Amino acid sequence: MKTITEPSREIPVRGEADVIVVGGGLAGVSAALAAARCGKKVILIEKSIVLGGLATLGHVCIYLPIDDGMGNRVFGGQVQELLHVCARYGYDSIPDCWKGGAEKVEGTHERYKTNFNIPAAVYALDEITSDEKVEVIYDTSFCAPIMEGNTCKGIIVENKSGRGAYLADMFIDSTGDADLFARAGAQCEIRKNRLSFWTHEIDTASMKKALETGRVYDAVPLRWFGYIPGKSGSADTVPEFYGTDADEVNTYIKMSRKLALDYLKEHQAEDFTQMTIPFMPQFRMTRHIVGKTVFAVEPGVSVDSSVGCVIPCTDQPAAVYEFPYEGLIDSDITNILAAGRMVSATGKGWEIMRNIPSCVLTGQAAGTAASLAISAKKTVQDLNVAALQEKLAAGGVKIHMADELRNNQNLPPVPKPQGSIYNVRS
Ligand SMILES: Cc1cc2nc3c(=O)[nH]c(=O)nc-3n(C[C@H](O)[C@H](O)[C@H](O)COP(=O)(O)OP(=O)(O)OC[C@H]3O[C@@H](n4cnc5c(N)ncnc54)[C@H](O)[C@@H]3O)c2cc1C
Repeated sequence: MKTITEPSREIPVRGEADVIVVGGGLAGVSAALAAARCGKKVILIEKSIVLGGLATLGHVCIYLPIDDGMGNRVFGGQVQELLHVCARYGYDSIPDCWKGGAEKVEGTHERYKTNFNIPAAVYALDEITSDEKVEVIYDTSFCAPIMEGNTCKGIIVENKSGRGAYLADMFIDSTGDADLFARAGAQCEIRKNRLSFWTHEIDTASMKKALETGRVYDAVPLRWFGYIPGKSGSADTVPEFYGTDADEVNTYIKMSRKLALDYLKEHQAEDFTQMTIPFMPQFRMTRHIVGKTVFAVEPGVSVDSSVGCVIPCTDQPAAVYEFPYEGLIDSDITNILAAGRMVSATGKGWEIMRNIPSCVLTGQAAGTAASLAISAKKTVQDLNVAALQEKLAAGGVKIHMADELRNNQNLPPVPKPQGSIYNVRS
């Protein structure tokens, strides 16, 4: 490839904070909230103009279950909080039995999850970050870390004002793609994922259904193009992308929209219209760190350094696992933590950690850990994990699974709850 040398230049320092969070998806929002609630000055850098990442921009407006399918709430803390925040000003589809946020609902297989309205979630995320005094800098792309050995001193960004730098003591990479870690030289792994493209649509049938049920979201079902989990043949015919190469990302963007356009051309004579489309690529898994520990599912095992319980995405009762603190950090880089779908995990473990509840959990853990490390003047490797667990537990996180959940392995299938909230067409 032809190359040129970029000239070096002086750039302004645009801000300084205790903690800088790079990427404002739900993981980044959660990390920023956690650090701010620990009394730290937090700057959140987001390349788009809204918070929420895949959950808003990427049109993934289904907050997956935070219970185990047997009536036990598995996630608390900010995972539970953000589920309700996303649905604060729009519709929700939280079953009545969970609306009050119960710890346990006897005898139910209804899942504690919700669909939410994207604009309403965006406004609520603005509100909650503003309430907690997180300084959100929109429309600003992280470009490069400023490294001194294994320590990150700052980041270089680019926006309408040109290049600039932000400095901090601790950094959280919640870019989804491990951009900060990768550019800081951390070991990462990249995986392909299949093309997906979700739109919202509306027609007279969906409007009629909404009138019958009294639920607005029935009027605007999601239509899924490309890969549909569980649909026969889907995995063999849909193209795959790594999502970390600009040419490939462009191919995905053009190809996915063409699928939706072809469908529209075919159906435009009908009483039907598309309402919204994704404004960021719908990549499930791209690049993640290979951290100090790689999370792989081990049923029923208690993890000493757990920062919280997690569950797989399934309509059926879910086995509960514990995610280790060391899955958030690199072995060498002293002051960067991972949050969200780019944490260190493999196989089924990665599938679990990319779900919204797991992303929000690791955000809370990373933001809290960054704050404790600053206060204790420690590196992320030397952090007192017991103190972190204590702080997270005080914030509502379930660090270890209860004995009754530990035994919840190989659970029997249960009938699908009535009125599945997916509301999806394909
Ligand atoms: C097709 C599909 C279906 C899914 N279905 C579900 C589902 O039904 N329920 C569920 O719970 N989960 C689902 N998921 C997974 C879930 O949506 C995501 O894994 C989760 O939302 C990721 O959150 P995150 O904050 O880690 O990352 P992201 O949401 O990807 O956020 C990353 C943020 O960082 C920003 N950013 C990136 N690079 C930079 C940079 N260089 N500078 C500044 N900012 C940057 C981005 O703009 C974005 O806001 C699905 C995912 C896909 C793709």
